[in-house]
Amino acid sequence: MDFSFSEDELIFRDNLRSFLSRELRPIVSKIDKEGIPHEFVKKASSLGIWAMTTSQDVGGQGASFLLSTIASEEIARADFSMATAVLFLLESGWGYVLDKYGSKNLREDILPRVTAGDWFLGIASTEPSGGSDVAGIRTTAKKEGTKFVLGGQKIYISGVLEALHWGGGHLTLAKTNLEAKHRGISMFYVPTSSPGVEVSKIENMGRAGISSGIITFSNAQIPEENLVGELNKGFYYAMDGFNHARVLVAGACIGAAEAILEIGLEYIKQREVFSTKLKDFEAIAFEAAELKTKLEMAKLLNYKAAWMMDRSPNSDETAMLAAMSKLTAPQVAFEITKSVMMWMGAYGYSKDALVEMGFRGAMSYLVGAEGAMNVMKLIISKRLFQ
Ligand SMILES: Cc1cc2nc3c(=O)[nH]c(=O)nc-3n(C[C@H](O)[C@H](O)[C@H](O)COP(=O)(O)OP(=O)(O)OC[C@H]3O[C@@H](n4cnc5c(N)ncnc54)[C@H](O)[C@@H]3O)c2cc1C
Repeated sequence: MDFSFSEDELIFRDNLRSFLSRELRPIVSKIDKEGIPHEFVKKASSLGIWAMTTSQDVGGQGASFLLSTIASEEIARADFSMATAVLFLLESGWGYVLDKYGSKNLREDILPRVTAGDWFLGIASTEPSGGSDVAGIRTTAKKEGTKFVLGGQKIYISGVLEALHWGGGHLTLAKTNLEAKHRGISMFYVPTSSPGVEVSKIENMGRAGISSGIITFSNAQIPEENLVGELNKGFYYAMDGFNHARVLVAGACIGAAEAILEIGLEYIKQREVFSTKLKDFEAIAFEAAELKTKLEMAKLLNYKAAWMMDRSPNSDETAMLAAMSKLTAPQVAFEITKSVMMWMGAYGYSKDALVEMGFRGAMSYLVGAEGAMNVMKLIISKRLFQ
């Protein structure tokens, strides 16, 4: 067993960290108010980070999942609202799915533009009737000549405005066999600019730098070439993508939590109350020790999930480890952020401290983004009783 990164991984991490501390950290408040600037996305593409696990023939790096997890951590270390990390993990998770299952034409049409930072690529699975029961979706796709005609609605979908304004779209799940449950679902690449597709924004409490909203399909006509992989296999492709994305979600939560804990530790080293530094109160020092331990536990678990993803992406064990990571890291991030805000007193509650951004961001993963917590427990417990 070897717990160290390779020299290449360390060089990549350090270069990315210094780029992000220069280009991303200074604009996080602006991102939280106005969104991720497309110029930043373009600039960051020079580091080859967007959809970096995709093949080199479509502009990707063919990078390992571990390297991608390191990138997710670093991005959220700089933007601990996690908005930029959400963009990163969506491109990565769904770029991976398109690269793996999509036709040559679809891959060559879309992925070079995503890896270049021009286009947005996301996932549209959740519907107003619920997100956890993916097999229960109601959006339909009917074959008419050389097209599929989509009808239905998706909700709480990340990146609806980015896809509209930058270009791109979402890998969209729709029923192609009404009689079957998960075996009757197909995946389509739906460009947001397609006729019959409309988007609207939902205001979220956090990670406001990336939009979230509703996509309505009213007789939306999609060329048959936009079917990803085989008919009625979309559920399986989506589960593959969710596993990938969950490891990166955990990486983002860990990166944000680490940055916030560092800020908190610096604060308690300086702040004096009752003529004593906060760090010298055992109640606070012990809490810091526990938080650091929980962070390390979450990190090790996540690296193991990433390591497994590199070796056996479709195994049940990998799915379980991805679920364990997604179950653990957001809770640790939330706890660390809450404690640091409390160490900082009123300052922690103010927007000046920036830390509250992490609190709002981590909450998105507790309520459901990339799968609700109980769904992670469902995946893990199923494996326990197999
Ligand atoms: C910020 C944000 C961004 C998102 N981006 C996207 C996106 O880009 N694309 C996309 O498709 N979706 C997206 N989602 C939606 C997300 O996937 C869903 O929130 C998630 O799947 C849960 O679905 P739901 O919100 O409808 O909750 P529900 O499915 O209604 O679940 C509600 C509650 O019930 C619990 N629950 C569910 N099943 C069980 C069970 N079997 N046993 C016990 N408890 C259970 C859940 O844990 C949850 O607490 C996003 C969500 C958020 C918050």
